[in-house]
Amino acid sequence: MSKNAIVIGAGFSGLSAASHLAAAGVKVTVFEMHEQAGGRARTWSQDGFCFDMGPSWYWMPDLFERYFSHFGYDVKDLYELKRLDPSYRVVWPEGDHSDVPAGVDALRAFFEAHEPGAGRKLDEFLSQTKYIYEAAYEDYLFRPSLSFFEFVDPRLVGELFKLRMLRSMHRYARGFFKNERLARLVEWPVLFLGASARETSAMYSLMSYADMALGTWYPPGGMHRIIEAMVKVAEELGVEFRLGEAVEEIIVENGRAVGVKTHEGTQRADAVLASADYHFVETKLLAPEHRQYDETYWESRTMSPSSLLYYLGVEGDLGELPHHTLFFDEDLDTHMDAVYDQARWPEAPLFYACAPSVTDPTVAPEGCSNLFLLIPLAAGLRDDDGKREKLFDMVMDRLERHTGRPLRERLLVKRSYAMRDFEADYGAFKGNAYGMANTLRQTGPLKPTLRSNKVRGLYYAGQLTVPGPGMPPSLVSGELSAKVLIDDLWRTT
Ligand SMILES: Cc1cc2nc3c(=O)[nH]c(=O)nc-3n(C[C@H](O)[C@H](O)[C@H](O)COP(=O)(O)OP(=O)(O)OC[C@H]3O[C@@H](n4cnc5c(N)ncnc54)[C@H](O)[C@@H]3O)c2cc1C
Repeated sequence: MSKNAIVIGAGFSGLSAASHLAAAGVKVTVFEMHEQAGGRARTWSQDGFCFDMGPSWYWMPDLFERYFSHFGYDVKDLYELKRLDPSYRVVWPEGDHSDVPAGVDALRAFFEAHEPGAGRKLDEFLSQTKYIYEAAYEDYLFRPSLSFFEFVDPRLVGELFKLRMLRSMHRYARGFFKNERLARLVEWPVLFLGASARETSAMYSLMSYADMALGTWYPPGGMHRIIEAMVKVAEELGVEFRLGEAVEEIIVENGRAVGVKTHEGTQRADAVLASADYHFVETKLLAPEHRQYDETYWESRTMSPSSLLYYLGVEGDLGELPHHTLFFDEDLDTHMDAVYDQARWPEAPLFYACAPSVTDPTVAPEGCSNLFLLIPLAAGLRDDDGKREKLFDMVMDRLERHTGRPLRERLLVKRSYAMRDFEADYGAFKGNAYGMANTLRQTGPLKPTLRSNKVRGLYYAGQLTVPGPGMPPSLVSGELSAKVLIDDLWRTT
C-alpha cells in the first residue's frame, strides 16, 4: 500500500526532502506558511526591483548538479549559471581594495604578487583542502550523524591528524601565508558557518577550496531561480504544495506522529518531516512531553549570527562596485566579539554589499541598481529601529566613500529586515538568520538529531540540524532526513 508523508516548510531542505520522498514512491504534501516557496531564499519585489531576501553566494555547484541529477535533470536545463570574475572584492582597513580573480591560475599570480612564494603555497593549500573537500563530499557529508560510530574511520582520523586539521582555521591559514591579507582571504569563507576562524576547525578549510577552486556563480534572474527549479522538479514528482497554510500542531497519538493541524483542518499521514526551524517545531508545534531538548539545551547552543539586512533600490549606478563586496575595513576580532554579544549593538561592524544588477539587469528597472546590504549581528540582540538606522548610516558612509556616489540621495526603495523579522517569518530562535554555528562542539552527531528520539515517525531537516547552514548543506539535510524516514517506513511495515 502506498505511504504518505507531510513535509513542513518549503525552503531548501523541505523541498529537497519532499522530492527525495516522492522519488521513492511516497505521496507527499508540503505545508508552507508563506504564499511563496523558498523560505529564507524567498524574493521581495517593489517598484520594479526584485530582491533575493537571503542567499546571494552560489558556491559548490557540484552539490546542486548532484541534487538535480538525482531526479534526471542537468542544472543547465533548469537555469543559467554565470561564473563571476572577479569572484568578489575585499575592502581593507587601509581603504584600498583587492578584486579576487576567478580561476586558480589567476589566483596563483595574485597571491605571488602579494608575497613571493605564495603562489606555490596556494597550490599546496588547495591540494590539502581538495582532499578534505572530496573526503567530505564523497563520504562524510552524506552520513545522517545519528551515531558517533558513523565517524569511526581510521583512514579519516589518520589523515586529519597528519594534516593537523584539529587546529583552528586561523592558525592553519597562517601556517601557509605570512601576508595578513592573504591569510584573511583564505580563512574568511568559514564565516558562512557562523563562527570565527579562531573557533572553527581547519577541517572547514573545505569552504576555502569551494571558494577558490570551484568558483562563485550566479543564476541570472536571481537565486530564486534555484527554488523555482526545485518546485518544478517536486511537482513533476507529484508533490502537492499547500502554500499559505501554516502548521499549528503536529498530532501525536500513542507516541507516533500521525498528522498535522492547520487552520484548514487536520491532515493525517504515515510520517511527518519538519523542515521549519528546529527550536520552533519543538517548542511551538509539539506538546512538552514530546520535546527532545529543553530550554537549557537551546540556551547553551552557539547560534550563528543574525543579520541586519537592507534591500535598496537605487536610481543610477553604483560606480565600479562589483557583484559581491566584503567590507573588511574594520577590526575583524572586535567585529567577531560583537556578533556574539547579545547585550549591545556593534560599533564598527564589518558588512557585505551585493549588487546583482551589475551582472543581471532583470533585477532592477532600467537605469537603476539593486543593492543588498548584510550586517552580521548577534542572535538574541534586542531589535531596535533607531539602532538599525544608526548602523545603516554608518555603513552607507563607508559605501558612499568607496563608490564615490551619494547613494542615500538616490534611494527609491528601502526596507530593513533583522531579528524581529526572522522571528516573525520563521519562528527563528533568538531571531537567528543561519541556524546553529558549526563549532566542533556542534558538529555531526552533536547537532539536534534528524530523527526524533521521543516521537516515532517524526523527522527534522534544515539548517539547525546536520550538516548545517547554507543552501548546499540544506539540500543535503533534506536528502538525509528523507532517507532515514524512508528506511524506517519500509522497515516498520
Ligand atoms: C540573509 C541570509 C543570507 C544567506 N546567504 C547565503 C549564501 O549566500 N549562500 C548560501 O549557501 N546560504 C546562504 N544563507 C543560508 C541559506 O539561505 C539557508 O541555510 C537555507 O536557505 C535554509 O534552508 P532551510 O530549509 O533550512 O530553512 P528555511 O529556508 O527557513 O525554510 C523553512 C521553511 O519553513 C516554513 N515554516 C516555518 N514554520 C512553518 C509552519 N508552522 N508551517 C508551515 N511552514 C512553516 C518557513 O516559512 C520556511 O519557508 C543565507 C541565509 C540568510 C538568512
